[in-house]
Amino acid sequence: MAVVNVNGRICAEQDALISVFDHGFLFGDGVYEVLRTYGGQLFLVEPHLRRLRESAAMISLDVPFTDAQLLARIDETRAAFGGGEHYVRVLLTRGVGEFSYDPRACPTPSLVIIVKPLPVQKPEQYAQGVRVALVGVTRNHPTSVDPRIKSINLLNNALAMHEGLRRGGFEALMKNYRGEIVECSQSNFFVVKQGVVTTPPIDAGLLGGVTRAYVLALARDLGLPVEERPLFEGDLETSEEAFLTSTTKEMVPIVAVDERRIGDGRPGPVTTRLLQEFRARTRGAGRD
Ligand code: PMP
Repeated sequence: MAVVNVNGRICAEQDALISVFDHGFLFGDGVYEVLRTYGGQLFLVEPHLRRLRESAAMISLDVPFTDAQLLARIDETRAAFGGGEHYVRVLLTRGVGEFSYDPRACPTPSLVIIVKPLPVQKPEQYAQGVRVALVGVTRNHPTSVDPRIKSINLLNNALAMHEGLRRGGFEALMKNYRGEIVECSQSNFFVVKQGVVTTPPIDAGLLGGVTRAYVLALARDLGLPVEERPLFEGDLETSEEAFLTSTTKEMVPIVAVDERRIGDGRPGPVTTRLLQEFRARTRGAGRD
């Protein structure tokens, strides 16, 4: 059962109401973040709040809260939720207003915080790896709804995932308008090619994942070579390993893209080492 904070009012999920005149509902006009806890403490708060502000700025949405105020709202909601590891979704929408795209129609943004139990991931997905589907749905063009915006307008991602699921994928891998592989519907994509931990650059048109940045830093700390460069379909055949990253899924080894096996079809040594280090850091002492 979730606990929800709607504009400062904390309530149970069945009582959480938002106006149908909210432009988040009407137009998908808003931004969001998903955070999680480890050992009951929020993880990587600073980059998540920074990305929320950057997303809001890219849609000309004012954030009328300081970080301390946002965190206070989150913490009050978490306190009402109680124990266990938390999933925390923070949504900031344009707010309630007339049927107009003019931002002046909505003087006050709506701030919604949803705290739920962290979804449980299947151990097999880490032990055996997963298959993803390379889908026909193109990732938004950067001059359309820029994928760097963590927008609540998720139709592009949902349509990709619909296709991915129809085709038996754990995730939907997407290309950009130029045909480069960019990211999955709700996670970032990496390969290990000739020993180099490689992921497409953000300007290829993808969300700058907080976990993506964390894993890149982790790989550098381990002395692994790291590169951000465009990836193409041909790189799939010639990569030894692949994996995806996200806040809730951490790092999941990818062992096949559709019928194409990656490497020897098992989670590879570099992915396994990164995952072990990721777990040691997040489960161990000295968390961020
Ligand atoms: N790409 C997309 C499209 C996403 O929706 C997500 C999940 N927020 C990610 C990547 C991963 O981002 P993060 O590591 O910040 O959860």
